[in-house]
Amino acid sequence: MSLDGDPTLAGTTSTRRGWGTRWITKMTLSYKDVSFWMEDAGEALTPRPALACSGDVDVAILGAGYTGLWTAYYLLKANPGLRVAVVEGEIAGYGASGRNGGWCSPRFPVSAGLMTKRYGAPAARAVLMALQAAVEEIRDASEREGIDACFRACGTLTVARGAHQIPALKGSLAAYERLGMGDRYELLSPEQVAGRVRVTDAHGGLYTPDGASLHPGRLVRGLARAVEAAGGAIYERTRATEFHGGTRARLVTEAGELRAAKAIVLAGEAYLSRLPGLRRALLPVYSLISLTEPLTPAQWGEIGWERGENLASTRNTVVYLTKTPDGRILFGSRGAPYAFGSRISEDQERHGETMAMIQNSLRAWFPSLAGIRFTHAWGGPVGMPMDWTPAVRFDAGTRIGFAGGYTGQGVATANLAGQMLAGTIEGRKSGYEELPFANRRSPGWIPEPLRWLVVRYMQGALERIDEAAEAGRRRPADAAIAEFLGRH
Ligand SMILES: Cc1cc2nc3c(=O)[nH]c(=O)nc-3n(C[C@H](O)[C@H](O)[C@H](O)COP(=O)(O)OP(=O)(O)OC[C@H]3O[C@@H](n4cnc5c(N)ncnc54)[C@H](O)[C@@H]3O)c2cc1C
Repeated sequence: MSLDGDPTLAGTTSTRRGWGTRWITKMTLSYKDVSFWMEDAGEALTPRPALACSGDVDVAILGAGYTGLWTAYYLLKANPGLRVAVVEGEIAGYGASGRNGGWCSPRFPVSAGLMTKRYGAPAARAVLMALQAAVEEIRDASEREGIDACFRACGTLTVARGAHQIPALKGSLAAYERLGMGDRYELLSPEQVAGRVRVTDAHGGLYTPDGASLHPGRLVRGLARAVEAAGGAIYERTRATEFHGGTRARLVTEAGELRAAKAIVLAGEAYLSRLPGLRRALLPVYSLISLTEPLTPAQWGEIGWERGENLASTRNTVVYLTKTPDGRILFGSRGAPYAFGSRISEDQERHGETMAMIQNSLRAWFPSLAGIRFTHAWGGPVGMPMDWTPAVRFDAGTRIGFAGGYTGQGVATANLAGQMLAGTIEGRKSGYEELPFANRRSPGWIPEPLRWLVVRYMQGALERIDEAAEAGRRRPADAAIAEFLGRH
């Protein structure tokens, strides 16, 4: 039963049933079930009051994730008198911001090599430097605002699991060298990798001290409090149903409308695909996570990983590993297959087959953890644009701002986007106006059923390429086509 004031999800009931055996049967009933991070956020997650009636503001923001909250934060810090209101369909941190892998890294959805090809070396370098500055700003802002985000400058280690992954590591290093950033990256021998973390089949690694890890739930919840302390209003369990730009710009919600004198900001990321007018802007793609119980000192002794670097491999189907502040291993990977019509639903967050695959992958990386217990499993949608490139824009004519399309690399990027949007809305220079993802729009996704066919094909093909490489088999005949279509 969903009761006002309870930390219970809007609209969920405990009597839900009818999901198939392929789905893990535990459905989200409480905001604490959204993810381990939300459960461990250190607060009751009691929803803030919803919007009660229509009103006038300067800036109305849809979505209380990192993008919406950072935008509100920087607007208010620069202009404390501004009337800023954020409307959130559930509670702050309900989306990807409260569910992610905790990597706060200067990674961008478009690789360094491809960015250089597309925009030139100076622009590619500027993006990576701006993201590195955003990582540091997240650390500094957390300290300034008293947010216990568990920020740890742990660095990033990409492991080549199998000889077939070495060329990709060398390719990445060469791309960074071309940008004059090679001194930040070090190619490691198998022995050097083992000195950091003992992973099976490690043929080498690429290490950088850049990149940090943090507690996503504490960051997003703390940020919401910082926005309120700066004078912003946050209305939770308030779903926006429409938006209208122009001189009478307004965000329409189920409870009334917010008329915005200066700007409306659409910061709903993957969930924006539910909003009329934006259904084909971003593809909601799921990423899923399994979390172990805390490891014993003996188990950590077997694995090493004392410095807790963010860990990945060069698989096409991404994997990411994080050592949590309380000594667990978070293993993240792809999500449930794409659902027709860009459907977003809770059952996709706990897709049983995918969770089993993730847990088996963790055991393959660390066989000494064969008997480890998994205590939490969750997932969430990331917003993927057709061209894999995020966009941050504000149109002074329509007064509509947008930032998103981070494709799973949004912790640092959303901070940068918030700084950029706040600057443009207020007519101030943020210094990031020339970045190649400023003031742009990705092409819309192709209509269904073609979208379903293409996306499902790509998901399957990239998985087949990885599996063939790992088994030492010949590459699938369509590998070059799939890699060309999926290159980023
Ligand atoms: C499982 C997973 C792992 C990830 N791991 C990493 C990682 O390790 N590092 C990294 O950099 N990135 C990672 N990401 C991506 C990163 O978390 C996101 O890019 C980032 O959090 C996006 O922030 P956002 O504020 O734009 O969107 P969100 O956090 O999704 O927030 C959008 C908010 O808008 C609300 N909303 C949507 N529509 C409406 C509406 N109509 N009315 C009112 N409210 C609405 C939603 O409820 C939601 O709270 C991961 C994502 C997932 C799902």
